[in-house]
Amino acid sequence: MNSPVKDFFALGLTGYPLERSLSPRLHTAALRDCGLWGDYRLYPIPQLPAGRMQMQALMDDLRRGRLDGLNVTIPHKQSVIPYLDELTPLARQVGAVNTIFRAGESLVGDNTDAEGFMADLQHHLPENNPRRAALVFGAGGAARAVVHALSVENWRVTVAARRLEQAHALLHSMSFSTVLNSVISLDALAEYLTAATQTRMDTHSGNSTSSQAAHTIPDLIVNTTPVGMFPDSDRSPWPQGVPFPNGAFVYDLVYKPAETLLVSAARSAGRQAASGLGMLVEQAALSFERWTGMRPSIDALRQEISGIS
Ligand code: NAP
Repeated sequence: MNSPVKDFFALGLTGYPLERSLSPRLHTAALRDCGLWGDYRLYPIPQLPAGRMQMQALMDDLRRGRLDGLNVTIPHKQSVIPYLDELTPLARQVGAVNTIFRAGESLVGDNTDAEGFMADLQHHLPENNPRRAALVFGAGGAARAVVHALSVENWRVTVAARRLEQAHALLHSMSFSTVLNSVISLDALAEYLTAATQTRMDTHSGNSTSSQAAHTIPDLIVNTTPVGMFPDSDRSPWPQGVPFPNGAFVYDLVYKPAETLLVSAARSAGRQAASGLGMLVEQAALSFERWTGMRPSIDALRQEISGIS
């Protein structure tokens, strides 16, 4: 990690596409808030292998000190790993990198999504939420961070994905994943949730059977897919016609629009819900701290993006 006494911090983000990224605003606000001089530039690099020469050149710049820190986003969170010398234990566990810093001569890959997600979830989750069972949509890079963070906090996680093999691979690769974690195909989800609701009703009336008891009503629903993201804002991963479980909290990692269809539908049904803006802020603050040694004010960063819709 870098020391806070540097004169200028050359920071940036690689991914593709990047035009709509809020990270430059967040990190410029963080530099300002911490009284540091620097900039945060975008390095759009197409998916590998097409972009591999550009990726190598960018890593060389980082290694030689022309850059002091880099964020990594879609589609490079996993494909950047072979370019690095080390991974932090968390990045290794999650299997994805969103932050790179230099330690001496080495390039170190880290992951601040898991910690950023949990920090924001804890900020939002109502005290009376039972914190038992979570349903996570998607099995990509962000899902890995979310499932890891939830498993560490003893949530029982069901991963709902359109490719079951990807969901199984996610759970099998994590040492924190417990035998109670499970996967379900998106196609089977509506039936599963309906059966789970029926189980709860039967349990209350004393009629539950062991096969019904295998279905669990989620206390927390997390979307880690891009479904509902601008410009496809009229889509939601939640199965049509299935009511949101009583008392469930809904968290959508998508933050553009600031209120996704999933979040607005949950709120209309009387459930509490949050979009991914808070996680975006938390993970940015954590990355910034890795590079500069200084922690920007979360309020200052929230303020910076408070007007976006
Ligand atoms: P990713 O690695 O590409 O994973 C996306 C996952 O969603 C994959 O499992 C993918 O399945 C699934 N998926 C994609 N389209 C789908 C569809 N139409 N129906 C069902 N499943 C679908 O991407 P990621 O890095 O995990 O990012 C996912 C989302 O999280 C993005 O919207 C990103 O902006 C957001 N995110 C937010 C934050 C934050 O700070 N708020 C941080 C990280 C990510 P396939 O593999 O089958 O395509």
